[in-house]
Amino acid sequence: MSRRVTFLCISSFLIFVNVSRSRVKTITLGCRFNFYETEIIKEIIDGIPITDDVFVINTCAVTHEAERQSKQMVRKVIRENTDAKVIVTGCASQTDIDYFTNLGGVFKIVPNDRKSDAQEYGELADADASPVMPNPQDHLFADKARAFLQIQNGCNHFCTYCIVPFTRGRSRSMPLQKIIEKVEYFIAHGFREIVLSGIDIMSYGMDLPERIDLFDVISAILNNKYASQIRIRLSSIDPAAVDEKFIKLITSESRIMPHLHLSIQSGDNHVLETMRRRHTREHVLNICHRIRDERKDVVFGCDLIAGFPTENDEMFENTLKLIDEAGISLIHSFPYSPRPGTVAASMVQLPRGTVLERASRLRVKAQIVREKLYRSLVGTMMTSGIVEKCEEDVVYGKTDTFIPFRMVSDQYKQKDIIEDSRIIDFDAEALILAD
Ligand code: SF4
Repeated sequence: MSRRVTFLCISSFLIFVNVSRSRVKTITLGCRFNFYETEIIKEIIDGIPITDDVFVINTCAVTHEAERQSKQMVRKVIRENTDAKVIVTGCASQTDIDYFTNLGGVFKIVPNDRKSDAQEYGELADADASPVMPNPQDHLFADKARAFLQIQNGCNHFCTYCIVPFTRGRSRSMPLQKIIEKVEYFIAHGFREIVLSGIDIMSYGMDLPERIDLFDVISAILNNKYASQIRIRLSSIDPAAVDEKFIKLITSESRIMPHLHLSIQSGDNHVLETMRRRHTREHVLNICHRIRDERKDVVFGCDLIAGFPTENDEMFENTLKLIDEAGISLIHSFPYSPRPGTVAASMVQLPRGTVLERASRLRVKAQIVREKLYRSLVGTMMTSGIVEKCEEDVVYGKTDTFIPFRMVSDQYKQKDIIEDSRIIDFDAEALILAD
């Protein structure tokens, strides 16, 4: 079954349209997590005998703008595909279910916590076909270099700006045995790198009777029969939950990739408190310095919000200073936008001009520190990197520190691991390796 993939980027959202000749189109807005779940939905529907056109729109509601775009996309799909069965799921279908219920042309709204459940799509099957419930794992991430493993969902923290706990519910963890089975499946199907992901993976296990945590998951994977071949990458980390045990694991285990993306959000303690975050700037500094002392090659990334209510010039300067003091290089920055239903939305908002001006200063800062990192690596050896795609004798991939690279070569294929290759240059997009 051949696929054609079109990739659009509008404002800060990724919208991914996947077109398969078998009339199933999936559109994903929002976070990496939604992409993971869309992969599963795609696999489920691909196994069902259908003749109708089916659209699945996996929506996002992390900001007001995200929800507006999700609604716009659903209206557009319905308008342009009057005969198609349109399924709406994702966070926006939770935050405003009435809107989608009353919007004519929606075939079904699948609740967020059931979107990976094959039963939810059974009625798509042709009336005379005997519905077969496929094993959604069959070709999961088949066209990807690394496998994403969602080990945790939901969140119990209720940061004042965030809608996720309202759309994804309480924190819940995948049983450890199931995680091991999925890891073994991915390795048996040629994956060398597995991304352990979750809305708040540091809360893993708190809901399980055996009271295990992320440390136990990683240890179990590393002690698995496939252990020697595994590369583990972690999705976003809550700094407040980083303890000695975790620092020891990260700094002593080379199979854990030396890239940590920290959910920092601000570098000022007053703003962090107003966000109801559970860490301080001192905590972040301590984590970064401790880990870097033990593991020199580690690269830190983070999420930062600009223009949060109550943030004044001095507080914003504290965020800019923290980037240098902690040695952070890969920054995702976002202009704050109030999310109806959150505590912060009822606070006094900063002028939009101030929010956008600070967000642009953060983007400039992000570019400066990223280039500084790339420049510092020229002349050194890339320890290892994974091949993500090969196009016309050019290989594209990511280093173990999650930095994009490219090299001229026809020796590699997707998922291959390249080791000990000299970094000879860089540009705005990537490091250049010697061929
Ligand atoms: S930790 Fe905070 S920001 Fe992250 S999902 Fe939970 S409530 Fe949202």
